[in-house]
Amino acid sequence: MIASNQYKPVTREEESLCLQEGETWSEHEKSLFSQFSCSISVSHDNRLSPPYAAVMYVDTPVFNHPKTRNEPFRFRHDDPVLAVRSLKNQFVQQVDCKHHFICRKDRNGTALTNGDATCEHCGLMIDQYLPAGKTQQTYVDNCLGFEEGRRAVALQDWPTVECHLQGGTAFGGKEFFEAFPVIHGIETFIRGEGDSLAEAEEAAFSLYTAQSSCGSHTWSRTVKGKHRSDGYAVCEHCGLTGMALEPLTTCQHCDEPTSNMVGNTFLCLTHTYSLSEDEYMKLSRADEEKKDEGKDESPLSALFGRVNPVTERFLFRVYKQAFNQAFKSDSDRFKAYKHRLIAFSGKLEEACQKAIGKTGIDALSSLNEDEYANPAVQSVINRHLIALPAMIWDIEKKEGKHA
Ligand SMILES: [Zn+2]
Ligand SMILES: [Zn+2]
Ligand SMILES: [Zn+2]
Repeated sequence: MIASNQYKPVTREEESLCLQEGETWSEHEKSLFSQFSCSISVSHDNRLSPPYAAVMYVDTPVFNHPKTRNEPFRFRHDDPVLAVRSLKNQFVQQVDCKHHFICRKDRNGTALTNGDATCEHCGLMIDQYLPAGKTQQTYVDNCLGFEEGRRAVALQDWPTVECHLQGGTAFGGKEFFEAFPVIHGIETFIRGEGDSLAEAEEAAFSLYTAQSSCGSHTWSRTVKGKHRSDGYAVCEHCGLTGMALEPLTTCQHCDEPTSNMVGNTFLCLTHTYSLSEDEYMKLSRADEEKKDEGKDESPLSALFGRVNPVTERFLFRVYKQAFNQAFKSDSDRFKAYKHRLIAFSGKLEEACQKAIGKTGIDALSSLNEDEYANPAVQSVINRHLIALPAMIWDIEKKEGKHA
């Protein structure tokens, strides 16, 4: 197409898409596109409407505004040729525009007061650009990845403390809204659907209202036609679901009710974290030998495959240190914190890779068993683990947990 610039279409097919029936680029476009390097690709997904998406990645900062990030530039259309052409036209308009930024409106039409801005002439968006106003409860509106990270304002009176909200457009075009509140001490999940985002939120909120005003929950272990033994239950009156009952399964050592499993074995946390690393690995991998006996694979391992054995050792060692030392075997505190320890383990694994000089692409993959056994690696792990209890105490103190 334009011989002199660095525009690099991804495939031949896309190149032809941009040059239809003698379409030419204006001198202005030519000079504009010769100043930076970019690539355009077109994708197609029948489940979405419109189904064609043109995406342009720009490698050079182009918009006449210092705070604009180089996010991929996107346009959807029913026709692939028009998708690319519209994308190009909108892009040129945004580069040429003398912007005037105003508060962005979400898809319900509510103006955001968090400073997220949109140019009223060309539609260019900059997050957290204008001075922030009064606090609103907002959530990420996931419009099929097209307005990535864009926020919407909650219209209903959701509990503000620790109630995660999210919403967006599902495949097929229905709008959804999801909330993760705690109702009567039970962490739960509520989903509403509708023709608009506001309708979906209203549907979810009416479920929330019914569940939080239920006078006395009557729990059933049969959830969606399936008997659950782990304590997960549903209220027969209001439909509230969550870990409401004691597990029916018990620890193999002490008979304490627990749904915690190591491989195929039920073990309470105390008995899990009194195992040695080798004992733990042996129990944890016991189900692998029996795989052919028709046992269902856990949904997680079906999705992600089995965790690398060295990563599993890492996690066990970090959890064990945390449970026995930092949390003094306080199961509730430990459970509330557990997800953070995954990040700590990741950082620790990185430090170990550095210690033995693993760099570049290699460093992204995990250590293998030989590398794990390396004395330098073991010493890095031990140093970090000694500091873990103090580190957790510090973080909890900042969160006001040790007044
Ligand atoms: Zn503008
Ligand atoms: Zn109920
Ligand atoms: Zn036990």
